[in-house]
Amino acid sequence: METIRMLVDNNLNSEKSYAQAVDLLNNGEVVAFPTETVYGLGADATNDVAVKKIFEAKGRPSDNPLIVHIGTREEVSNYIEEIPEIAVKLMDTFWPGPLTVIMKAKKGLLAKSVTAGLTTVGMRMPDHEVALELLRKLKKPVAAPSANRSGKPSPTKAIHVEEDLKGSIPLILDGGATGIGIESTVLDVTVNPPVILRPGGVTKEMLEEVIGDVILPTKSQEKLESTPKAPGMKYTHYAPNAPVYLVESNPAVVSDAIKRLKTEGQKIALLAPISFEKLGADYFFPYGVEGDKEMMSTKLYDDLRACDKTEATIILATTTTTEGVGAAIMNRLEKAAGGKWYNK
Ligand code: AMP
Ligand code: MG
Repeated sequence: METIRMLVDNNLNSEKSYAQAVDLLNNGEVVAFPTETVYGLGADATNDVAVKKIFEAKGRPSDNPLIVHIGTREEVSNYIEEIPEIAVKLMDTFWPGPLTVIMKAKKGLLAKSVTAGLTTVGMRMPDHEVALELLRKLKKPVAAPSANRSGKPSPTKAIHVEEDLKGSIPLILDGGATGIGIESTVLDVTVNPPVILRPGGVTKEMLEEVIGDVILPTKSQEKLESTPKAPGMKYTHYAPNAPVYLVESNPAVVSDAIKRLKTEGQKIALLAPISFEKLGADYFFPYGVEGDKEMMSTKLYDDLRACDKTEATIILATTTTTEGVGAAIMNRLEKAAGGKWYNK
């Protein structure tokens, strides 16, 4: 299959590109499009044959449900059994935006493979003009996971989608680099207090200001049977080819690690604040200025993907605190590293 990448931009006349995307989606095909978090691979969420093409193109396990994207608030009630009061508050405050709300789904309306057999569904309204324009022109809900091959870092640029899915999808709408750079927060409001199944751009602190107590399970809580979980979080994620090791954000520690690894003959890629540039890594990918978590989340996947273009045999990634969006960044870094720390 030929994969076309089309630029969509405010300054261009993009009507034809949208029309083509809408036609493809109406015909049961998949289309990649930008959101404010990462690029998504979308299909008509009411068409099971179409949704299955997402799983196929990504190589995604079929027990991992998809998030349903909508262009207007009114659509929620078409698919949700009963919308809890706190969900209304959350949607009022954070939509459009990087918050996915898990609620009880009405039966028989969404394609079966969207929910992977669960009785709940996650919905979100993305805060991106291309995504919103597409959804509002299509006037249907769009099931969309990140537009990467399963296991790889999520795409933050159209070119990343091309790297992973060229030849297996017909169209990529190219709206430039995404802003936030990591996926939405997934919040289960079917339990009380609500539980964060995946941390993201809308932080625990931000949620608690609006609805009070919210649980972000600790590592030991995550292991308990009774803790609600996102089916997808058990799979390998965000991993470049070379092994990733987490390392304390301390120049002396990183410098020692580099020296030692070099004596072992390793080629080292370092992801770290810009001030770590001169520590002798073979390849250096700066997150930005130390402590700038927004920049770190924007750049993280691009940097992880860039490592695959090097000869690195090992990747060292410095860490950050779990305050604010740091919780989401550390969640992704720990998954990319498979929990491995250098020297710990
Ligand atoms: P992705 O589509 O790759 O952005 O991932 C979406 C995440 O949300 C995955 O970890 C899914 O397992 C999770 N998810 C989607 N729908 C549900 C649901 N109904 N209940 C729990 N987790 C969900
Ligand atoms: Mg994903």
